[in-house]
Amino acid sequence: MASIYVHFPWCLAKCPYCDFVSYAADREDIDHSGYADAILREATARARWLERRGRSTVIESIFFGGGTPSLWEPRELGRVLGKLREIFPVTKDAEITVECNPTSLDRDRAAALLSAGVGRLSIGTQSLRAEQLRFLGRLHDPDGARRAIEGALEAGVPRVSTDLIFGLPDQSAEDARAQAEALASTGLKHLSCYQLTIEPGTQFGERRKRGLLPMADDGIVADAFLAIDEVLESRGLRHYEISNYAVPGEEARHNLAYWRGAEYVGLGVAAFGFVRTDDGSKAAAGVRYRNAVEPRRYVERTKTLRDDVLGEDDGLTMFAESLDAEALLRERIMLGLRIAEGIDLAKSGAELGIDPFTGAREKTIASLMSRGRLERDGNLLRIPRNAWLFTDDIASRLF
Ligand code: SF4
Repeated sequence: MASIYVHFPWCLAKCPYCDFVSYAADREDIDHSGYADAILREATARARWLERRGRSTVIESIFFGGGTPSLWEPRELGRVLGKLREIFPVTKDAEITVECNPTSLDRDRAAALLSAGVGRLSIGTQSLRAEQLRFLGRLHDPDGARRAIEGALEAGVPRVSTDLIFGLPDQSAEDARAQAEALASTGLKHLSCYQLTIEPGTQFGERRKRGLLPMADDGIVADAFLAIDEVLESRGLRHYEISNYAVPGEEARHNLAYWRGAEYVGLGVAAFGFVRTDDGSKAAAGVRYRNAVEPRRYVERTKTLRDDVLGEDDGLTMFAESLDAEALLRERIMLGLRIAEGIDLAKSGAELGIDPFTGAREKTIASLMSRGRLERDGNLLRIPRNAWLFTDDIASRLF
């Protein structure tokens, strides 16, 4: 099982906290069809590369992320989607998601995306407070976010999710809880709740370096995380991943596959991809690649992209990293411990062709369990929910 990620690298404005590859542009200044053509050239070459290796990777989800892919003309996005179904073996019931911003989503656009074959929208609400949205540099207001959600639901999009950011300066845990509850009461069956993080290289990162950015109190942020958990769980949305909640059965299949270590073909500007390079007979190996990050260069390079190699020699990849079985296991531990179901270490080891239960790892597991940081059920390891805030540290100890 594998998935496809398509990156659309433009937004109407750059948010000050954003470290994704996205460029501010007006809708009419974007070459909608030229970018679609480039994506399809890349898709064709990547599929041929997989074919040459005798691989027929079945695709079970396609995710259009960004940037703001709801800015993309639905006709062009639909053309890409239709062709991807011809180029790759995409299952009939594949999950097809598009990330949307309230400034580029209304009922008509949701309906157009639906008729293009999209079945799931993920809407960037981020906050229901006007002053918080201004602080985050967002172009919409709370009513705009509500209208976008209502428009998607009224258009009949079967699965709609929205994002909420918490951990803003001066935000109380009670405010975070109230916003999560308000979003859940719109009838959404999936919510992503992210803590605001300040990344180097962003506008917020620069302001922080100069001491000009107010910061949230760590204790209040932890309380907000638990308050959101409590209110959403009480409304039947299961906390299935550190930042994600869903009514059972409504989990994001695309993201779950990623957290479980599945392959993904990355297409578009700055897209990451990960594919296995072993033939399954020995220890696993894979390559992670990243495409050119500048849109014009990306589009030009897809015209001469080679399909007999994958990596820095193919003309499009700007960075590639070979991953051996140990590296793949470390990634699986890091990602698998983010999800409530945890990671079956024996199963992962068997899939990757290595023994995961080294003496050192067994010792660390025992020590983490004695401190209440890890639960073990046979070969299954998971982090108890009250220790999720320490996931990165716990996972790295198991490397
Ligand atoms: S809309 Fe999203 S991708 Fe675009 S700049 Fe803001 S946070 Fe980044």
